[in-house]
Amino acid sequence: MTPASEPTKIPATLIPGDGIGLVIMEATLRVLNALGAPFEWDVQTAGKKGVQECGDPLPLAALDSIRRTGLALKGPLETPVGGGYRSSNVRLREEFHLYANVRPAITLMPGGRYENIDLVTVRENLEGLYVGFEHYIPIEGDPHAVAIGSGVNTRAGSRRIAEFAFDYAVKHGRKKVTIVHKANILKALGGVFLETAREVGKAYEGRIKTEDRIVDACAMQLVLNPWQFDVIVTTNLFGDILSDEIAGLVGGLGMAPGGNIGENAAIFEAVHGSAPDIAGKGVANPLALILAAAMMLAHVGRHDLAELLRRAIDRTLNHDCVRTRDLGGSASTKDFGEALIRNIS
Ligand code: NAD
Repeated sequence: MTPASEPTKIPATLIPGDGIGLVIMEATLRVLNALGAPFEWDVQTAGKKGVQECGDPLPLAALDSIRRTGLALKGPLETPVGGGYRSSNVRLREEFHLYANVRPAITLMPGGRYENIDLVTVRENLEGLYVGFEHYIPIEGDPHAVAIGSGVNTRAGSRRIAEFAFDYAVKHGRKKVTIVHKANILKALGGVFLETAREVGKAYEGRIKTEDRIVDACAMQLVLNPWQFDVIVTTNLFGDILSDEIAGLVGGLGMAPGGNIGENAAIFEAVHGSAPDIAGKGVANPLALILAAAMMLAHVGRHDLAELLRRAIDRTLNHDCVRTRDLGGSASTKDFGEALIRNIS
């Protein structure tokens, strides 16, 4: 192919991430290369690796890169538990106003505990209890005697995420949106979200059915009868928890991709974290990140490549029966990636 006939490259930021990030990103990049994906990568670091290499969990160079490209594929970033620096994931979402976190869960391997799951969680990504308004009150020499945390839900933020969820439902031929909340107890925080999302739902009457559920009941019903759900829209913390539960319905965290979407930028990633328990062993399932890459391809309009990739995944898992350990197989991360590449034609 001459340079003149080469398709236009799309600049995109690449953050391999921590723990299993490196190995799953390597497999994902090899798959994207085999597909002929149009991305021109600008490789950056963040998270624990950012601290090690640049003394910052979110180096300016990474932020500048995403500001320039408006598009990123990101591996998992480690966050210290109970102290230390604030999550780079949360900061990235805030920095680029990535208000919607879209997490589709689809059964890719028949014969599991649940068949034919096809549901999407739309998680509010900037508000709620993730705003980080937390402090301690020391009493009698105990610096952590009392811990206080506040959440923030705004009318505008609730409307924006509800409209995103209903628009998503219309665009993707979905039938129903379930608003998931805890407005019975968190009367202000949950109340404003529920009230606003219901109001938004009215504008879609006749096109999309609206219902609502209290989060605890929803968590149980997801186990008993997940097929009743179609699109779930919920606040930040509940979306985080429910999407891991929902990942469990389709084979686990190794199967769950996500997209963080804003007006001017989008960052695609796996739902899972850096999996320190299996890091360095070469056994991580790269599929969640590969599926996130498929979402990224669809996001830039390359539905053809996204579809080709999904078909190759189906053949690899279900015809060749090449699966990583978390899916009951014995393939390494690398073996799975290579088997997938053989099915890309
Ligand atoms: P985790 O998602 O990393 O791991 C939970 C469990 O799932 C582990 O047993 C792990 O081995 C397994 N698992 C996860 N991904 C897998 C894969 N691809 N293949 C096979 N098994 C997989 O959650 P955690 O251990 O609670 O968190 C570890 C770190 O990751 C923390 O620092 C956390 O803050 C961070 N984290 C980052 C993100 C992100 O970058 N978006 C998301 C969640 C957690």
